[in-house]
Amino acid sequence: MKEKIWLSSPHMGGTEKKYVQEAFDSNWIAPLGPNVDGFEKDLEKYLKNDVKVAALSSGTGAIHLALIQLGIKANDTVLCQSMTFSASANPITYLGANPIFIDSEMDTWNMDPELLENAIKAEIINRHKPKAIILVHLYGMPAKLDEIMAIANKYSIPVIEDAAEALGSKYKGHMCGTFGDFGILSFNGNKIITTSGGGALVSHDQKTKEQTVFLSTQARDQAPHYQHSKIGYNYRMSNIVAGIGRGQMEVLKERVTQRRKNFAYYKKQLRDLPITFHPEPKETYSNRWLTTILTESYETREKVRLALEKENIESRPLWKPMHLQPVFTNVKTYLNGHSEKLFENGLCLPSGSNLTEYQLDRTINIIKKTYQV
Ligand SMILES: *Cc1c(COP(=O)(O)O)cnc(C)c1O
Repeated sequence: MKEKIWLSSPHMGGTEKKYVQEAFDSNWIAPLGPNVDGFEKDLEKYLKNDVKVAALSSGTGAIHLALIQLGIKANDTVLCQSMTFSASANPITYLGANPIFIDSEMDTWNMDPELLENAIKAEIINRHKPKAIILVHLYGMPAKLDEIMAIANKYSIPVIEDAAEALGSKYKGHMCGTFGDFGILSFNGNKIITTSGGGALVSHDQKTKEQTVFLSTQARDQAPHYQHSKIGYNYRMSNIVAGIGRGQMEVLKERVTQRRKNFAYYKKQLRDLPITFHPEPKETYSNRWLTTILTESYETREKVRLALEKENIESRPLWKPMHLQPVFTNVKTYLNGHSEKLFENGLCLPSGSNLTEYQLDRTINIIKKTYQV
């Protein structure tokens, strides 16, 4: 069996162990501690725009706490991009609220602003004005933020920006995750940087950050005994894991550069094939977390995927849209057919920042061979 090539595997920079060692040496093994503070400071400095960051145990937990702080309750409606990973939508249902799924445009593959506005208008007539919008920057590609934020402002609906895949991506020079009322990040094992597992909630003022920390640490009132006047959660990042994050922050810029290089290399080597790549409109800068391609049919997509699998190379169809998921069968949708096409014809290629040129060439040669027969 040939050596396995992964879609996106963890890539340590080298200094992570130093921060984890410091935590051991000072016995800061418990949650909270200097690495958590340091990691949050690093992220705030990196994201700019004066944002406040709370480090949490996952990106999913961050979305949950954002929805809670926006006051989402049972039977409320939340508009969510259909073309995404289930973690974008699941926290809506944790609260007993109802998602409505919005299809994608083909310029960035993210939430279609026109469908979004149609949905808002229709739901207002329905006497069920949506309480929040969850947009996603798919595979690191910034959504149409100007258009979507303008609609959100017009109807006064708060926005949660799911930037789990988009740390380091920019829209008109500003970092993704800093546009919405809340932004969420993920440091899961396959993301552009990882803490093995973790996430963060980005907000715009210190009070909101403090509320996030309060809710993520069991909502303890100020008292010597354990007292609670609110339901809390156990979502805070641990000081050990945050040490890995601090090390990863030192190499984040290099990781973005390397992922973009992978993309450029694929694009150049595969330019003669009937393949289209995820477009990058001029106002956007994608971290190119994953290089994604569209083939001309489902059959071709499967031929390529299975040929790679046979050679021990991991590839993956694009996210299966939420409105096609069995668990969301009865959910209301605003569709245009784009996300279904993306799912049928699209494939994610190995994209890790630790891939060697030899590994990229192995992958490219298999794809080329599939098209020769
Ligand atoms: C990874 C991911 C999440 C969830 O992040 P976790 O840290 O794994 O909980 C949410 N949304 C999107 C789009 C993701 O890719």
